[in-house]
Amino acid sequence: MNNLIDLHVHTSASDGVLTPAELVANAKKEGIKALGICDHDTVSGLDEAVTVGNSEGIEVIPGIELSTLHGSLDLHILGYFIDYHNEAFLKELEYLAEKRTERALKIVRKLQDIGFFLDEKALQKKSVNTTIGKPHIVLALLDEEKNKSRLKKEFGDCITVGNVIHAYLNYGKPAYVPKVKLAVADAITNIHKIGGLAVLAHPGFDIEMTRDGEAIIESFLPLGLDGVEVMSYIETDDKTKHCLAFFSDIADRFQLLKTGGSDYHGYKNCAAAEIGVEMGFVGTPFSVPNEYLSALRKRHEEFCQEQS
Ligand SMILES: [Zn+2]
Ligand SMILES: [Zn+2]
Repeated sequence: MNNLIDLHVHTSASDGVLTPAELVANAKKEGIKALGICDHDTVSGLDEAVTVGNSEGIEVIPGIELSTLHGSLDLHILGYFIDYHNEAFLKELEYLAEKRTERALKIVRKLQDIGFFLDEKALQKKSVNTTIGKPHIVLALLDEEKNKSRLKKEFGDCITVGNVIHAYLNYGKPAYVPKVKLAVADAITNIHKIGGLAVLAHPGFDIEMTRDGEAIIESFLPLGLDGVEVMSYIETDDKTKHCLAFFSDIADRFQLLKTGGSDYHGYKNCAAAEIGVEMGFVGTPFSVPNEYLSALRKRHEEFCQEQS
């Protein structure tokens, strides 16, 4: 296989493990020819990724993943083909980054209050080129020797970043701190303003596969939503298949673009409980259809023409 594409991956510019250069180099090794780099609320990895992509012959689609709040739902909106040098947009991202740092420090204090050991220096090492996010905090917590016996007691031998986030950092949990987030409408508008297309990320994780879930997506149509990430890996092959069928049907009926991505972060904590999938869905029966990317590109060209 050497015609793979992956439209949703993360670098160390947000909470991924690999630097943009390493990620693109690995993609090449895996036979991936196009990569959508969509770090959380930052574009700081894109220059490096695009440069390395150009020299390695890998197409890097400049993207972003914006965190939004919709009622009680945390939804992620992906932006594709964005102008990531736009000054006003960079300012907006800077403001959100300041808020994220404030929040991270509150989370750390809460975890310390309930008896976990967290060293600020270790934490900074986990988030060298980015603001501190939940995964960085958890990785620093997992590394700390003094937490090990407690973690083993609570989670057994197989501890993942996701387990710990779920048990302590999510809504209603002891170290939960709300995030300053955009509304879905603002995220879509911001992406459009910088020439990008807005796509709802991994709905299979965030939205119920019911009529109500469909109604949520329908309510984003007047806001200008361009597409839905119909293909993301949801725990098992069967669930993934079901989710793909459900959201593809919705996308087709609403004439939305379809996209697919692994949401690869590069964590390797615990093979047995690994949530997520390798870049390009390698090792699964799935691969992102190349048509998704050609349709995305075509729509983007049309969008640019409408704007000019
Ligand atoms: Zn996401
Ligand atoms: Zn993501």
